[in-house]
Order: sequence, then C-alpha cells, then structure tokens
Amino acid sequence: MIVPVNQPLIAKNALKYVKECIKSGWVSSQGKFISSFEESFAKFLQVKFATTTTNGTTALHLALASLNIGSGDEVIVPNLTIISCPLAVLYTGAKPVLVEVEEQTGNIDVSKIESKITKKTKAIMVVHLFGHPADLDPILEIAKKHKIFVIEDAAQAHGATYKGKKVGSIGDVGCFSFYANKIITTGEGGMLTTNNEEIFKRAVLLKDLAHSPKKRFFHHRIGFNFRMTNMQAALGLAQLEQVDKYIEKKRWMADLYNKLLKDNEDLELPIEQDFVRSVFWMYAVKLKGEIKREFLRKKLLDSGIDTRTFFFPLHRQPVLKKNIPFNDEQFPVSDDLATRGFYLPSGLAITKSQIYFVSKTIKKILNDI
Ligand SMILES: *Cc1c(COP(=O)(O)O)cnc(C)c1O
Repeated sequence: MIVPVNQPLIAKNALKYVKECIKSGWVSSQGKFISSFEESFAKFLQVKFATTTTNGTTALHLALASLNIGSGDEVIVPNLTIISCPLAVLYTGAKPVLVEVEEQTGNIDVSKIESKITKKTKAIMVVHLFGHPADLDPILEIAKKHKIFVIEDAAQAHGATYKGKKVGSIGDVGCFSFYANKIITTGEGGMLTTNNEEIFKRAVLLKDLAHSPKKRFFHHRIGFNFRMTNMQAALGLAQLEQVDKYIEKKRWMADLYNKLLKDNEDLELPIEQDFVRSVFWMYAVKLKGEIKREFLRKKLLDSGIDTRTFFFPLHRQPVLKKNIPFNDEQFPVSDDLATRGFYLPSGLAITKSQIYFVSKTIKKILNDI
C-alpha cells in the first residue's frame, strides 16, 4: 500500500453533469456549464467577473496580456514558485524580475520588492504559496505608489482569505488552476478573476482568438485559444459545490498533522499568520538541523509514503538563466527552503488513519537517526 502525496476527491454530481454535456452534444466551449461555473466561481470569490481558461498557466498568460504587458516591460515574480509564473511573463515578451522569498511562508519578501522596481516594471505577480496568502496590503501600497498592477496567482489557494477577503479578489487580476491536485479540479483548467470590467472584457476577447466585436473572423490583436470545454466546467461546477467542505478537510488535515508532529525538534511545521486563513493546499514541512531530507524521504518511501520536494528556485532554472541575466545575484532563503522543504501526503482523499500512519513513521525514523 502506498500513501500517495495527492489524491483528488471527485464530487458525486460530477458524473451527472458531465453526462448531461455528452448527452446534449454541448461538449466544446459553449454550453450552460461554462457560464454557471464562471458565475458560481465569481460568487464564491465575491468578485465581479470570472472567465475560464484552459489551465493555470494560460490564466497567468491571459492576465498579463489583458493588462497589455509585453515586450520591453518587466514583471516582478517571487523566486520560489512553479515555472509557469516566469514562463507566462516570457510568453508576452516581457522580462520576469525575481525577488527573494521569506523564510516562514515561502511567499514573496515584501521588503525586497521596491528595490527591484524600475521604469519598465508593469506588475507584481504575487503567489500565495501552499495555500497561505502573501501579505498583500504592503504590496498593494507599493503597486499604488508606482502605478503598477498586482496579479495574484491563487492556483494553490482557492478560498484562502487575507484579512477576511478571498485571495484572487484583491489585486487587479486573480489567476487559478484546476489541475487534479488543486483544491478544486476540472482535470485541466483555469480561471481569471477581476473586479475591473475593462480587464475582464479584454480577457474574454483575447482568450477566444480576439475576434473583432464588430466583425467576426476579423482580428486586430494577437489572440489565443484558451477556451475551457463545457465538460470541464461541468466537473468544475460539481467540485465548486463542495469547495467549503474541501477547505475544511484541508484545515482538518493540517490541524491533525500539527498535533501529531508538534513535539519534534527536527521538523518545522507550517504556520498560519494571524491575518490570514490558509487553506493548506499542501502540508509543507522543513527539516531542521543536520538530518538529511533525502534520507527521511527515502525511508518514508520504503514505508510506502510518497512525498514531494519544494520547487527548485527560479534563479537555478537553466531555461531562465538562458533568457534573463541574473548578474550572479544570490537567493539564500530560496535555496535554503528548496533544500530543506518537502510536503507530506496532503490530498483531499487522505484519511485519518493515513495521517496517523505518516506521522508515526516520521517520528520513528527521526528518533532512530
Ligand atoms: C499549478 C500552478 C500553476 C499552473 O497551473 P496549471 O493548471 O498546471 O497550468 C500556476 N501557479 C501555481 C502557483 C501553481 O501551483
């Protein structure tokens, strides 16, 4: 038996809704589930507008394009995140500018943003890492001062709140992913959210090949096909009906792990700052002291427990080294987190006995070292 690092839960209504699409013939990107999913998601987030995309990476790309960011522009990106963030910037022709993250949450270090802003900076891309919201207020302040946009990458943080507001509804644009390991899934899928009608309209135009509103099949801008299918939206709608339960399950999981693992000097457990409500997308831990993370991970795997390491820092990515100059800049915090951090089995399908088994096994291995 293997305890997988992530196993999704699929809502009961999913089959019914997807079947409806197939029976009705509305299998492509038109159909009632697209608009229901978008409207329900906007309502869930308490945001005015939401539009579906093919995945989280294209949601980020679409967000940048809808803000008219392109060649000659710069976008601030945290150094510890998925490659999708800098890639989306590169797709537009703009340049990602990396900023160090902070030790406790792995989120962007707010105090290091301003020194990276130049005349070319057009936006700050904020990632709410592992479901824990970044400290948005000072970021919004910096953005306001320099008249630049804030894009929230909330791909890991559906329903997480910052000072009572859901992330993805606070900056100029929010981006979500519905990959199978995210809090709700559509198989593959994404969403762009905003309170700004102009940005929304541009996003809707650009994601559907940018047909001229006056003349179909006539085009003024370089558009994309980032359209989600009705079948994916049907799955998404069924998942969204359960989202509050899913978030509760994640918080219950983190709570239980916290209780079971707390008295262990070697392990640093995830925190929750008092102005946020984290959704603990993944239960991310760090090893303290000299104990080698890889040793523990291998022992865990021998016991049938799968884990994942954190992302590699972006400044170490060959593809980025080739495309953006770093001037030998150092990112010690990102490096430290990337070498010490990993996450435990944290999928929505996880059971109480699995959490007990994982915790007991970790304690035993650490005691034996
Ligand atoms: C998953 C993820 C993405 C990309 O989403 P896809 O749907 O896989 O393209 C972007 N940003 C973050 C922070 C993610 O976790």
